[in-house]
Amino acid sequence: MLGYKGKLLIVNLSDGTTSTRELDEKLLKLTVGGRGLGAQLMYDMCPPKVDPLDPSVPFMLLTGPMNGTLVMGNCKHLVATKSPATGGILDTYASGHISAHLKYAGWDGVILVGRASKPSFVQIEDDRVEIRDASHMWGKMDAFEAEQWLRENVNEDGGKTVIGPAGENGVRSACLNSDFYRQTGRGGAGAVLGSKNVKAIMVNGSGGIAVSDADGLLKKFEETLRLVQESPGAKNWVQYGTFMVTSIANGAGILPTRNFQTGVMPEAEGRIDKDGAGKVKIGDHGCPSCMMPCSNFVEIKDGPYAGSRLEGPDYETISLLGSNVGIADPSFVSQANIMCDRLGLDTMSTGVEIGFAMECYERGLLTKENVDGLDLRFGNQEAALKLIEKIAHLDGFGAFAAEGVRNMAKKIGKGSERFAMQVKGLEYPGYDPRGAFGAALNFGINPRGACHRKAWPPSIEILPGRDPYTVEGKAEIVKGIFDTRAMLNHLIVCDYHSGMVPVPIPLYVECMKMVTGEEWTQEQLFWVQERTETVMRLFNYREGFTGKDDTAPARILEEPLPEGPGEGKFIPREDFTRMVGEYYALRGWDENGAPTAETVTKYQIKK
Ligand code: SF4
Repeated sequence: MLGYKGKLLIVNLSDGTTSTRELDEKLLKLTVGGRGLGAQLMYDMCPPKVDPLDPSVPFMLLTGPMNGTLVMGNCKHLVATKSPATGGILDTYASGHISAHLKYAGWDGVILVGRASKPSFVQIEDDRVEIRDASHMWGKMDAFEAEQWLRENVNEDGGKTVIGPAGENGVRSACLNSDFYRQTGRGGAGAVLGSKNVKAIMVNGSGGIAVSDADGLLKKFEETLRLVQESPGAKNWVQYGTFMVTSIANGAGILPTRNFQTGVMPEAEGRIDKDGAGKVKIGDHGCPSCMMPCSNFVEIKDGPYAGSRLEGPDYETISLLGSNVGIADPSFVSQANIMCDRLGLDTMSTGVEIGFAMECYERGLLTKENVDGLDLRFGNQEAALKLIEKIAHLDGFGAFAAEGVRNMAKKIGKGSERFAMQVKGLEYPGYDPRGAFGAALNFGINPRGACHRKAWPPSIEILPGRDPYTVEGKAEIVKGIFDTRAMLNHLIVCDYHSGMVPVPIPLYVECMKMVTGEEWTQEQLFWVQERTETVMRLFNYREGFTGKDDTAPARILEEPLPEGPGEGKFIPREDFTRMVGEYYALRGWDENGAPTAETVTKYQIKK
């Protein structure tokens, strides 16, 4: 099929050899690319029940059929691997130049296996592949310094993805940075790359991509651009980006505050909302191939963090490293954000880890002695920043916090697991589901753990005339949003255009036909997404997961919200279980969440 290169590059870091794996049309029809291809390859290639940091675990950097074409928002790439945070399958996405360059270099993806004998970086220039010495970077350069060095000394052009000290140290929430400011943030993919002794992957391609109907694609690009230019939603999105979510979440009583003890923070208004954070904004920033630049670029001009400049912080960082640690200060959040980026840490998991440690400290479950003398009360900026540094370097209490809140709670005990905000070992996103019950289902059933990136049911649940405090009908809502976004993760295109403009899904189906020259239908693409969900489920069940892992913290299921529009609300455990069961049924899984034999046959999956 056109649009693909039809081959993957396999790099064996242990013996320094490379090989090619052909991608046949049958596999591409079953998986499309991106998320679907990653799930199938992980199911086929990853040995069961091995540690995520074992050399045998593949690290996959994959593209989809849209990457490098004229389709707007085709700038994302996928990392598929086994998550050090959960022990299950991981798919994580970021923007950058690397996806297009992989295709231009002649590859649909690169898979690293084994472990290099010394710190290295992988350089791919078309079909030339080198595993080069990175000893001068390892332990000496953060992610930004390393990317800058590669730009200045190896190749300014192309795409790069780089880990920081957290990835080198195997921190389970370590991310990768691409083009400095874009992270494959969740689930610890940076630690997997670090476990292979690889600091960076850089790709430069000089070829092109053959598509079936280039003129048609140009017309679709112009149509998309018109939709973006005429859309009030897109205009708002460009002006504010995710800054605008703070007030929506605060108004709905779902803004995580002081480790999800409450869902409202009055002092957030005018401080870490679009008005407050807007004061430190100096410009918009967009990804390659996108005409809807939704990222905010900020600079802190005065105070203790003067000089901090970054793309961000996005809402998840504002909430989890802001209200969730009791701090409503855009300068602090920006500083915490840039520190995490440089150290190569997921801002979201880090914020939840700090919030959890602060609650334990305030409740007397952790003493000052336990936490290296830090005064870990909510709102203490200096202590929070010190803890970020300690987590990345596994220093003292930082090594304990770096294990994630699930493991911290297991060791601390004394009821702390009730407010360890995680599912499957991945820390919660920035929404309190007690104010929008569908969010609990979404966080509960995502194969990579508590994740908001596939479905965001509050966008429907908190609309006028809807009831956010019921589980009724939420399984259908979650599955509908989830499948739409996850389908776009197969192509691979940014899902904000379909969500915010909205660019209609049939337009992407048309683009798929124009790229590949095949008669794709919307039903076929959604069929593939449903198949992928079952493949991921089978991967996790092979690792020992069961329906018991599709859960929510006791705080959400038993503890009423203390204030705000959802005062008194929690999700009764039996209601949550019913909602999960309804979701299983929609997926063709049994009452324990295992795919039925009919479902496995329907999706042509070889177990
Ligand atoms: Fe990047 Fe935003 Fe454009 Fe998506 S909408 S491609 S995140 S700039």
